[in-house]
Amino acid sequence: MNKKFQIKFFGIVQGVGFRPFIYRVAKKLNLKGFVKNRSDCVLVEIETTQSRLNDFIEEVKKNSPPASKITKIEIKKIKASRKFSDFRIIHSEKLNEKSIFIPPDIATCEDCLKELFNPKDRRYLYPFINCTNCGPRLTIIKDIPYDRVNTSMSKFKICETCKKEYENPLDRRFHAEPIACPECGPHLSIFPEIQDGLSDFEIIKKCAQILKNGEIVAIKGLGGFHLAVDATNFFAVEKLRKRKLREEKPFAIMVKDINSVKKIAHVSEIEEKILTSSISPIVLLKKKKNSIIAENVSPNLSTYGIMLPYTPLHHLLLNEIDYLVMTSANKTDEPICIDNQEAKERLKEIADYYILHNREIVVRCDDSIVSVFNSKPVTLRHSRGFSPAPLILSKKLKKVMALGGNLKNSIAIIKDNFLFLSPHVGDLENPLARDFFIETEKLMKRITSVDPEIIAVDLHPDYFSTNYALKKYKDRKIIKIQHHHAHITSCMAENGLTGDVIGISCDGTGFGIDGKIWGGEILIANEKNFKRIGHIEYFGLIGGEKAIKEIWRLGLYFLFKLGINNEIIEIDDKKREFIKKMIEKNLNIVECSSLGRLFDAVSSIIGLRHYSNYEGQPAMELEAISLNYKGKPEIFKDIVKGFNLEPYILISHIIDMKKRGYSIEKIAMSFHFSIIYGFIEICKRVKEEFNLNRVVLSGGCFQNKILTENLIMGLKKENFNVYFHSKIPPNDGGISAGQAYIAGS
Ligand code: ZN
Ligand code: ZN
Ligand code: FE
Repeated sequence: MNKKFQIKFFGIVQGVGFRPFIYRVAKKLNLKGFVKNRSDCVLVEIETTQSRLNDFIEEVKKNSPPASKITKIEIKKIKASRKFSDFRIIHSEKLNEKSIFIPPDIATCEDCLKELFNPKDRRYLYPFINCTNCGPRLTIIKDIPYDRVNTSMSKFKICETCKKEYENPLDRRFHAEPIACPECGPHLSIFPEIQDGLSDFEIIKKCAQILKNGEIVAIKGLGGFHLAVDATNFFAVEKLRKRKLREEKPFAIMVKDINSVKKIAHVSEIEEKILTSSISPIVLLKKKKNSIIAENVSPNLSTYGIMLPYTPLHHLLLNEIDYLVMTSANKTDEPICIDNQEAKERLKEIADYYILHNREIVVRCDDSIVSVFNSKPVTLRHSRGFSPAPLILSKKLKKVMALGGNLKNSIAIIKDNFLFLSPHVGDLENPLARDFFIETEKLMKRITSVDPEIIAVDLHPDYFSTNYALKKYKDRKIIKIQHHHAHITSCMAENGLTGDVIGISCDGTGFGIDGKIWGGEILIANEKNFKRIGHIEYFGLIGGEKAIKEIWRLGLYFLFKLGINNEIIEIDDKKREFIKKMIEKNLNIVECSSLGRLFDAVSSIIGLRHYSNYEGQPAMELEAISLNYKGKPEIFKDIVKGFNLEPYILISHIIDMKKRGYSIEKIAMSFHFSIIYGFIEICKRVKEEFNLNRVVLSGGCFQNKILTENLIMGLKKENFNVYFHSKIPPNDGGISAGQAYIAGS
């Protein structure tokens, strides 16, 4: 007996090719009915028997599209009002049925690639080929719902052939909103123009030639422009560094294919999977010795940031040249360029040539960055390919918007049990980044249809985002959240945790509730409150913020405090005198408990470097040299005092090792392992006293693999349940998510 069923699919089921998939399954099983998008789910009605219904559900569960994630299926019998004559896809017309699920951009799929390089295909060598399974999404969307009219493809009138594909439910391009072909779609141009009437492919060939000549090309991509140079050409890379005002910060590399990646870096199975995934992020990979890559691409570090081509334009270009530096097109700290005119103005002192196209980029989106910790992927920059796919929370929370921190800013919105994290915004000290922040706030409100009553911000009184909210949202409830509490809850949110946990929150800088700079914190935290139970004991930042770049200030500070006046740090006497005076007069010394700053101090004391050229550089280099040490590290067990770590004792051990003539590799490794030992010891003491067994790690310092992997393993050995990040970055890019989780709770 046939009955009529209504089935609701919840989760990430919209904008991911779910309806055509349902259509194909229904056709295959010869079912009649319809499928349509609702604001909260995908709704299916079919008329069939119970056993056929079961087949249908099984098939959907088993083969659902790769970008989708079903979290719940509701099935109920309904009254048959009319008979279905076939199976149809019904389009949502009603405004209140607008879907809030905007899909992220997807790397070019295998099927499109085959067509791209097939001379018989009508899209042969066409740099804008895409289909339902791949292509631009978020970056071309102006408004919801996600239909072609609401994207920057609306200005391209679809040709008859494309239209047929678009309307055929059995075609791979059925409802592929950015569908295009050489006849009707976007095209490339080159500036300055070298020759009239070049085809797209000829432009790409020219571009490759220009790059091989060592010049810098700005290339318009998916979420913004890249600046490209030949990654094997030292002088080209050097030229880019000079013009971009980026002395040493590593550049990302785009590599032709996975085999070419393996020539320059070690790639594990899981790393290969991430590299070749539809997200196609930059993956941090261990360098191979004597690689062909110029040494100034990623100086003094043990890793390269590598990605594979993810647009057809990239595939065509990398077919001509194997290794390209592909770095966000901007001056240091500015947001990535997206507009042709904007690029020509802002990059005029950097780029020699521009590869442009006439498909507008609507949403700025940098490349995402992923690194693998203990065989698990961790997102370090959440942007293209990830955003705005929501994180699914364990329960429904209040509607809130969180405005994030100051560095690596991002914005988060919670609606029901979904947490939407914006693309990476960047450093809000920069005026252009502030404009981008405001742009992103609008975007997030628009695509989620949320106008929140509650706004969460950082406790820091001087943060741009905090003051922006206080001015703009006078009539709303504003919740100020302590930075390190937000770090811990960001990690709790993605692990579905509630209730008290031991939180180890370590980073460079965050504003503490006592007005001091925190950054090495042991918290007992839950999704609403926290108590600071321990920390790295305070030490002084001489000159406050200045000490972040001029890390010799920290090194000398410790020497004087410890009464060591000999020449253990090679540095000019003026600086010594200066620090001495500052300490004697107690001038402009800001107290801090930051692990990041402790890394800086150690770097300076062991003579690795006295200046930091970019955020995290001293710590990254300290990690890199530690990896060269193969012996047993020394562990300074006497640094644990109650629930605190004692930095002066730690530093005196380091100075002692230096005096005894140990290699800086061994000293660096001993520093790492002493910190690890200290945290494990403190966790044991906290467990003893408070009976807590769950440890949550978060904060920028946990981008350090030695620290994070060994701390996780050590804690597990002591039978703790340890939680770390996966989708939400451990650095300040995740702060907004943590703020939202607290405010929503
Ligand atoms: Zn495709
Ligand atoms: Zn066409
Ligand atoms: Fe932080």
